[in-house]
Amino acid sequence: DTTDANTIDVSAIDDRPLAAAPPPVVAVVGRPNVGKSTLVNRLIGRRAAVVQDTPGVTRDRVSYDAVWNGRQFVVVDTGGWAPDAQGMAAQIAEQAELAIAAADAVVFVVDTHVGVLDDDDAVVRVLRRSKKPVLLVANKVDDQRAEAEAAAMWNLGLGEPHPVSALTGRGSGDLLDAILDILPEAPREAVEEGGPRRVAIVGKPNVGKSSLLNKLANQQRSVVDNASGTTVDPVDELVEINGVVYRLIDTAGIRRRVKEASGHEFYASLRTQGAIERAEVCIVVIDASEPLSEQDLRILTNVEESGRALLIAFNKWDLTDEERRRYLDREIERDLVQFGWAGSVNMSALTGRHLDRLGPAIEEALAGWETRVPTGKLNAFFGRLVASHPHPVRGGKQPRILFGTQAQAGPPTFILFTSGRMDASYVRFVERRLREEFGFHGSPIHLSIRPRE
Ligand code: GDP
Ligand code: GDP
Repeated sequence: DTTDANTIDVSAIDDRPLAAAPPPVVAVVGRPNVGKSTLVNRLIGRRAAVVQDTPGVTRDRVSYDAVWNGRQFVVVDTGGWAPDAQGMAAQIAEQAELAIAAADAVVFVVDTHVGVLDDDDAVVRVLRRSKKPVLLVANKVDDQRAEAEAAAMWNLGLGEPHPVSALTGRGSGDLLDAILDILPEAPREAVEEGGPRRVAIVGKPNVGKSSLLNKLANQQRSVVDNASGTTVDPVDELVEINGVVYRLIDTAGIRRRVKEASGHEFYASLRTQGAIERAEVCIVVIDASEPLSEQDLRILTNVEESGRALLIAFNKWDLTDEERRRYLDREIERDLVQFGWAGSVNMSALTGRHLDRLGPAIEEALAGWETRVPTGKLNAFFGRLVASHPHPVRGGKQPRILFGTQAQAGPPTFILFTSGRMDASYVRFVERRLREEFGFHGSPIHLSIRPRE
């Protein structure tokens, strides 16, 4: 009975913000304790405060999806990071620089109770240099009286201060409107359609990221920054791998290892998150000579959740012996099953082993990431699937896939209109079958189920 499928209102597909380009990124920066984390919770509409009073508490996630007036953007919270007592201004400025480089727009938060301090000025200098759109927030304006103090912030030279109480929500609607106003229409990445593909090399410290980067950079012939009229962030580098030019995201961050090692862990995780966010494909470097760690898994999960193509580089292969390799196989079976769709290369940045396999593997992952399945083909597949493997009957009813469409590539995202709710296990089954049929090698895929009641 295809009539059912034919009556589906396909215009409903557009009711969700599933833009092909990644949503713009807003970084929230400022001194410790000005209320950044409280404000982020407010912006993403989460009432339960996850604000910690202990400074320097590390969190896994530093960026969150937000939607306001139907527009989607990503908020990067730099509030979990607290500098040491010494060299505070410099560290705040550096942290801000990092967040700003990864952002399309910046929300700069000042504590109206305390007023402007030297540390604030350090951030202001970074903001001016960055030329990114900035929105000045005078926080902790809990009532009318404090608004006069907020006006004093004009002298920072960042334009009109927006009085807000992150705690009570006062002024936060106006602030969200103002944020939408300064966000670029299209995120900057989308401008360089056809430019070099964006690759991030990520991984925990000491796995060999900078060694790999150096190897790749040394191999490169002369690569002109301006090859296709694209601008390159000062933190990025163009390298050539197997005759293809790629843009390596945040190479400055990889090279600046010493500071990272002595700094806060949050610092590294913010940087990793920013790089993943900006990349199309991520090379997650893992030290094959050491047991897989929690941190490795976290970074892999992060790449998957961010919807980026993934290539796993098992580095330091030269340090593995037969026994270690056998054990690694078991670890992969036990801990990495959920990344079975990802490609991997057993390599050594030191000896150059299998470095030549990176290029083809990157291309394969990108191809999987950008796969588009025509609607007709997709529904013919669903038709066969529903016939051969129907959903189990639930409460006398049998949920069915009525119609499906791929709403987006990079990563492949499918919307399935169904009659009734589907079991999670059935959705996983559908995902497995989709992969068997169409590949998507190296890419996560997303299924969005829309039951029609
Ligand atoms: P961060 O270090 O910049 O992320 O700051 P937090 O969000 O952790 O906030 C620091 C402290 O300021 C916490 O005790 C918050 O409850 C408090 N705070 C945050 N926003 C406001 C506000 O708008 N008004 C008042 N009165 N306190 C706030
Ligand atoms: P990063 O912190 O991830 O950038 O790691 P580095 O590139 O600085 O590497 C950390 C250490 O591992 C350095 O001493 C490197 O020389 C060493 N190293 C990196 N790759 C390899 C490799 O493939 N084999 C061996 N034996 N050592 C490596």
